[in-house]
Amino acid sequence: MNKRLKYISLFLLLILIIPINAQAKTLGQLKQEYSAIQKKYDENQDKIKHTDAEISAAKSRVASIYKEIDQVNAEMKQITEEISRLNKEISVKEDQLKDLMKFFQVSEGESTYLEYIFKADSITDFIYRVTVTEQLSKYNDELIKEMHAMIEENKKNIAKLQKKEQDLKRLQEELADKLVVLDQEKQQLNDADADIKQELKDNLAIINFYIKAGCKESDEVTSCAKSQLPPGTKFWRPTDVGFMQSKWNIDPLSGGGWRYHAGVDISNSSGTKVYSVSDGKVVTTHRTDNGGYGLYVVIQHNINGRVYTSLYGHLRSINVSVGQIVSKDTVIGLMGSTGRSTGPHVHLNICLGQSACQSLSQTVDPRGYINFPAHYTWYRDRTSVY
Ligand SMILES: [Zn+2]
Repeated sequence: MNKRLKYISLFLLLILIIPINAQAKTLGQLKQEYSAIQKKYDENQDKIKHTDAEISAAKSRVASIYKEIDQVNAEMKQITEEISRLNKEISVKEDQLKDLMKFFQVSEGESTYLEYIFKADSITDFIYRVTVTEQLSKYNDELIKEMHAMIEENKKNIAKLQKKEQDLKRLQEELADKLVVLDQEKQQLNDADADIKQELKDNLAIINFYIKAGCKESDEVTSCAKSQLPPGTKFWRPTDVGFMQSKWNIDPLSGGGWRYHAGVDISNSSGTKVYSVSDGKVVTTHRTDNGGYGLYVVIQHNINGRVYTSLYGHLRSINVSVGQIVSKDTVIGLMGSTGRSTGPHVHLNICLGQSACQSLSQTVDPRGYINFPAHYTWYRDRTSVY
C-alpha cells in the first residue's frame, strides 16, 4: 500500500471512530467533564464576589450621598440665615438713612439740614458741613447697594445648592435602581451556584460508581460496567420537540375501551426521534403491533441510586435491543401510531423500581420526575423550564 493511501484509510478510520466515541464516554472523559464543571463553579463564585463588591460599593455611595445632602441642606440653611441677616441690616440702614434725611431736611418748618450748614462760622466750616452731610447719606446708600449685591450673590448660591441637591437625589435614585438589578443578578448567581453544586455532587457520584465498578481511566464506562445499571442524575424529555397531548390518569380516548391512562402522551410528526429519558438498560422490546402500546420499549434506570422503569409506546420502529446500555441521547426508536392510537405520539410511562410498567397501578405521574410544560403546550428542547 502506498503511503498516501495509508493516510487516507487512517483518516477514514478516524472519521468512523470519532462519532462512536462521542456517545460512549471513558472514565477519563467523565473526570474531564467534572473539572470543567468545577471551573464553571469557580467562575460563578468569582462573579458572586464581584457582584457583592458592586453591591457594597453602591450601598456605601448611597450612604455618602445622604451625608452630602445633609451638608447641602445645612449650607442652604446658613445662607438663608445670612440673607435674612442682610435684609435686617438693610432695613436698619434704610431707617438710619431716612432718619438722617428727616433730621436734616424736615425739621419743624425750618430745615435743620440748612440750619446745620448755615451755622458754619467760616467758609471752611461751611464746606466741611456740606461735605459731611452728603457723604453720610452717600455712605449709607452705597452700603445698602453692597448688601443688596450680597443678597443676590447668596440667592445664586442657594440656587446652585438646590441644583446640587436635585442631582444628588437623582443619583441616589439611579443607585437604588442599580441595587435592585444587582440584587436580582446576585439571586440568579446564587441559584446557578446551587445548580452547579448539585451537578458536581451528581457527577462525582457517577465517577465513583464507575471507579467502584472497576473501570479504568481509558475504559468506556457503559461497557466496563455493563453488568450494572448505569447511574444517572435526572430525567430528560423523550423528544427534542413535543406537544403535551394528554395527562396521566385521564383517558385521552373518551368513549374508548380504557378508563385510566398510565402515562402521558407527547405528540409530534411520525418519525420524530424518541430518546431514553435517562441513562439506562433496555429490558423489553416489543416489536409486534398487536394493539395496546403497539411497538414499545421498556428501559430500567438508576437515578441517584434509585431504580426506575420507563416505557415508550406506539413507536413506528425500534432501534435498540434487550440488554443494551443506553444513554439519555440514545435514539431508542421513532415516533409512530402503532397499537391503540389515533395519531403519531409517544406514550410514556414512568414506574418506581423494576416493573413491567404497563398499568396505572404500576406507574407514577411522569410530571413528578420529568420537567414537562403545561398541558396542551409545546416544548422545544429536553430541559428548559417553561
Ligand atoms: Zn397514552
